Amino acid sequence: MRKRPKIKKRIQPRSDYKKNNTITLFLILIPFVTLIFLLTLDFYTPQINLTLNHKKIGNSITINYKEKYIEPTAEAFYQNRNITDQITTSGKVDSNKIGEYKIYYKVKEGLFYKTKVLKVSVKDLSAPTIKLVGLQNTAVCPGRKYQEEGYKAYDNLEGDITEKVKVKKVRDKIIYSVKDKAGNEKEIVRTITYKDKTPPVLELKGSAYETAYLNEKFIDPGVVVSDNCDNNLEDKIEVEGDVDTSKPASYERIYKVEDQSGNKATIKRTINVVEHGQNGTIYLTFDDGPKKGTTDVILDILKEENVKATFFITNGGPDDLVVREFKEGHTVALHTASHNYSYLYSSVDNYYQDLYSVKERVKRLTGSDAKIIRFPGGSSNTISRRYSDKIMSFLTKDVVEKGFRYYDWNLASGDAGEIHTAEGIYEHVTKNLSKDRVNMVLMHDIKPYTRDALKKIIEYGKENGYNFDKITEKTDMIKQRVNN
Ligand code: ZN
Repeated sequence: MRKRPKIKKRIQPRSDYKKNNTITLFLILIPFVTLIFLLTLDFYTPQINLTLNHKKIGNSITINYKEKYIEPTAEAFYQNRNITDQITTSGKVDSNKIGEYKIYYKVKEGLFYKTKVLKVSVKDLSAPTIKLVGLQNTAVCPGRKYQEEGYKAYDNLEGDITEKVKVKKVRDKIIYSVKDKAGNEKEIVRTITYKDKTPPVLELKGSAYETAYLNEKFIDPGVVVSDNCDNNLEDKIEVEGDVDTSKPASYERIYKVEDQSGNKATIKRTINVVEHGQNGTIYLTFDDGPKKGTTDVILDILKEENVKATFFITNGGPDDLVVREFKEGHTVALHTASHNYSYLYSSVDNYYQDLYSVKERVKRLTGSDAKIIRFPGGSSNTISRRYSDKIMSFLTKDVVEKGFRYYDWNLASGDAGEIHTAEGIYEHVTKNLSKDRVNMVLMHDIKPYTRDALKKIIEYGKENGYNFDKITEKTDMIKQRVNN
C-alpha cells in the first residue's frame, strides 16, 4: 500500500479568520452605530429656537450702541412637544457699553438638556454727523473767495470730533469728511455758486412821506444804498419823479439802483407840496418839558419821521434836551419858568418875571430870541381868577404889544388828565383831526402815554394826507376865548 504523502496544507487557523471578520464588521458598524446614536441623541435632545421680529435668528446678533436691546422670543420643543415654559434665561446686555454679551437659554427634559448661547455684539454702527454753518448751497460774489463759515462734527460715542474733519476743495465744491474710531464715515458737500443773487438794499433817509413847502426849495434827504458784493453804488442811483414846489400836490419819487450782476432795487417816497398853515396841517405842540425819558424819546421819533414840532418849555428838565430840540430843527417856545399858577397869575409883574426867566434860558442855550409863547392853562384858563381878576384879558393884549405871539390849541390830546393810555391818546387825537382847519394839537412831552402814542399818530397823519409843521412867527395865532 502506497503511503499517501503527507500533504501539509497551511491553513489559517479558524480562530484568526473569525477574529478578522469581527474587526471588519466592527469597522463597518462603528460609523453606522454612531450615526444611529447621534440621530437618537438628537431625537432625545430638546430644541431651542430664537426669533426676533418674526425672523429666525442664529447664534449671534449685532446691535448699535445705545440702541434698545430687544429680547428675542425663545421657544423650546421636545419631540414636537412645546416645552417653552421650561426655558430659563440668563445673561444681560448693556447697550450703553460697547462689547460682547452672552445670553444663555437652558431647557431640561428628563435626562436630556440643551443650552443655547446667543452672542450679542454692541458696536458703534452710527456715522458721525457734520453740521455746516451757513448754507449748503451758497453764493459768493464773482471774483471773490469763499470764506469758510465753519462746521461742526459730532459722534454718538466720541462727542465733538470737529478736529477730525478733513476739508477738501474741488472746483466749486467743498467736501467735508470725518471718520469715527469705529470706522463709520460721513461726508457732506457744500456747493459754491460764484454769482451775486442778492439785490442791493435801498433805505430812505428822512421819511417815506416828506413835506415840501410852496415856493421853498425842497431838499431831498436822499437814500442810502448797500450791496453784498458791490461797493460805491451811490453813483448809480437813479431818481425818477420831479417835485414842482410851485404847485401844491402830492408827488411820488422813485429811487432805483442796479448792481453789477443786474440785481435791482427800488424805493418810493411821497412828497407833498403844501403851504404853511394850510388846512390839514398838524402842529404837534408839547408843553411843560423837557423831561428825561420822555422828551428824548419824542425827539427820536420826530427825527425818524422827519417831522418838526413845537416845544413850550419851562425852566425844568435837562438843558441838553432844550439844545437838542433846537438843533434838530424844532421850535423852542416859551411856557413860563415855574408853571406855578398861584405865582405867575398873582400879578402882571410875576407873569413877566416867569416868562422872561424861561426866555433867558432859551437865549442862553440856543442863542435865539423866542417870541412864541403859550399861557400856562391857555388864554382861556379860569384858574387865574383865583389870583388876579381880569389878568388874562390884560395879558393877551399886552404880550402881543410886546412882540410875542401866543398860541392856544384847537385839539387837546387829553393827556392833561382825562386819558392815561397811549391807545386812548391815539384814538382821541386821530378822531378829532380835521382837513378843514389847521390842527393845533396840545400835548405834554412829560407824559409817557403821549410819548408812546406819538409814532402811530404821525403815521396815521401821513397816511391820511395830513402834513406836519412847526409854529413859526408867521403862523397864524390860535386863540381861545378869554374867560378872565
Ligand atoms: Zn402847561
